[in-house]
Amino acid sequence: MAVIISEPTTTACTNCGKDIPTINFDLHYMHCARNLEKCSICGDMIQKKLAREHYHGNHAPVDCVHCGETVERENLALHRGQICPQRIIACDYCEFQLPAVDLYEHQDLCGNRTEYCDECCRYIRLCQWADHELRSHGASDDDSEASRLDEPQAREEGASHPNRLMLTAVVTGAAILLISFFLHRRTGG
Ligand SMILES: [Zn+2]
Ligand SMILES: [Zn+2]
Ligand SMILES: [Zn+2]
Ligand SMILES: [Zn+2]
Ligand SMILES: [Zn+2]
Repeated sequence: MAVIISEPTTTACTNCGKDIPTINFDLHYMHCARNLEKCSICGDMIQKKLAREHYHGNHAPVDCVHCGETVERENLALHRGQICPQRIIACDYCEFQLPAVDLYEHQDLCGNRTEYCDECCRYIRLCQWADHELRSHGASDDDSEASRLDEPQAREEGASHPNRLMLTAVVTGAAILLISFFLHRRTGG
């Protein structure tokens, strides 16, 4: 007489899709079908009575806190970054930060302000400044701009040589000491 030890058999629950030990199946299914349902959007099993909360907490369109517009959740980042009329943008000319909806009008005024160009000895509108620089002072200005940009990098490279940095610090410190010493003597005497 052979004893057959059977594997615990399971049955898939049609409600939640889990494999349930057959021996518990009826009980599980009764509970499962009564209380749980599958979210049609994310596929999570959720309590039926919390379905609304789940939807509102996870899937419902949200109101943009800046402009109040209702936006799909997956579009919210895009909306905040590029679409929202109340998103804050800096003015090209004065770097003042203001809502995108006001920017156009502001830049219109701001760009019409003039600044004195030392090299040309005349006033240039800010909105034409970039163009002016390029056309009238293009080549030379570009070079100085480039070397100015290079500078911090060079300094960073210097920082990787602690000795040189140390020497600079010592020399600078000594110079400051010397200057303040002389100044002090002058004001003192
Ligand atoms: Zn189930
Ligand atoms: Zn869901
Ligand atoms: Zn918005
Ligand atoms: Zn401005
Ligand atoms: Zn100029």
